[in-house]
Amino acid sequence: MKKIIYLVIYSLVLFVILFIFACLSNSSSPINVYGSKDLIAINRNGLLTDFLEQSGDKHIESVIIENKNKDCLLISQEHFAQFSISNVLGKWVLNKGDKAGNSILKEITRIFLNTSSKDFGLYHLNHVQQKKFYCSYELIKSHITRVDSDSPYYERGIIKDSLQVYISDVEEESVLYVFNNGEEEYFELSDNGYLRIGEKLLFPKDSNSNRKILKAVWENQPALSAHIIHDLLMESLENKPTMAIFIDGLGYELWDYALENGYTNTFPQMDLKPMRVIYPPRTIYNYYMFGTGELLTNTNPLNREIFPLLKNSVIQGLIIEAKMQMFSSPLEQKLHHTLNTSDSMDELIFKSTMKYMNDYDFIFVHFHDIDNNGHYFGPYSNEVMKTILQTGYYVSELSNKWTGNIFLFSDHGMHEYYDSINNKIAGTHYTAKVEDIVGIFANLSNLNKGD
Ligand SMILES: [Zn+2]
Ligand SMILES: [Zn+2]
Repeated sequence: MKKIIYLVIYSLVLFVILFIFACLSNSSSPINVYGSKDLIAINRNGLLTDFLEQSGDKHIESVIIENKNKDCLLISQEHFAQFSISNVLGKWVLNKGDKAGNSILKEITRIFLNTSSKDFGLYHLNHVQQKKFYCSYELIKSHITRVDSDSPYYERGIIKDSLQVYISDVEEESVLYVFNNGEEEYFELSDNGYLRIGEKLLFPKDSNSNRKILKAVWENQPALSAHIIHDLLMESLENKPTMAIFIDGLGYELWDYALENGYTNTFPQMDLKPMRVIYPPRTIYNYYMFGTGELLTNTNPLNREIFPLLKNSVIQGLIIEAKMQMFSSPLEQKLHHTLNTSDSMDELIFKSTMKYMNDYDFIFVHFHDIDNNGHYFGPYSNEVMKTILQTGYYVSELSNKWTGNIFLFSDHGMHEYYDSINNKIAGTHYTAKVEDIVGIFANLSNLNKGD
């Protein structure tokens, strides 16, 4: 009997706790913001301008604030700077005290940003070409019906029920879906040449669990993927000493451009292929994949380790890095600094590799200058072309001296953009553009060695 009473009390307490928790989490649930470099969730208190700054987008031109899944405000650049929004006893308040604004902002569902780069959206890719880009902000805007607004600060509108993208020119029977969290999935087309991408894949509303956004629909995708690198290296190490040459930022399109312009002659003759990299096409996500064969996620333990399988192994391995170690590893890591030398970072890294390569069974060497110069001068600049030429010389020297397998690959490419703050062309990589998301791969094992 006592047990039952305890059980009832226990259940009641649990119920009350859960109820309070549910109430609290509802009023403080974060707002999803779309149109920054990736989906972000923001807290509900503060200035709208602070939110926009947090989103990481430097050049926001206009904002759509969606309320209760339907009503919305369109705020242009001249006006959104004046708004602050705060949650007072569960009600949204605008600092202007505008009544219409107050009622609209009471329950923000989502915020959509329109940035000057306009590269947030869905890419339709075919092998190493881009077929079409569906800009998220334009899609939302096309789904809005304007209604009268008496505010000088914003326009009001109603968002039509379902936001969706129709892709009508698909040639293959199946495509590869690429998601913002790096996952990939094959999708079989039921209708011939016709794909309908629904709102759930474009603008998921649940900010806590389901934040998977479709970034690319890929036909004839390159067969090689960054997913294979780790296993390839581990397999290779079972038989032979192995060198992995990781060239940061040398995408397939950039390679192609350099090839056409005669800047790749220094590389050894090799069968270079396009390789899908992990989305987002950034260094740490792909580096982690190379080192573990797994996606880097928020749930990975804090002490993220690469090449964990080589712990307590007889294989002597060395990672040759620039000034910073990116992941811990059971392998030894050599770091380099350009402070007291006229050598470039890659020159130091190359010399170090030549010096130490005979002492190890596994060399993982990470070249940096193409990426660094690409960010600063733009990927198609003379500086980057010269760096590619120089990198080819390093690769040739290393492959001549190394007696074992050699694999060459990159973590992403780069696209150019206009840096309005510094008034120059620069380079960046974070989108599902072909330039960013297609890297390179080549197997240099047994080249020119009569094998
Ligand atoms: Zn990189
Ligand atoms: Zn970079």
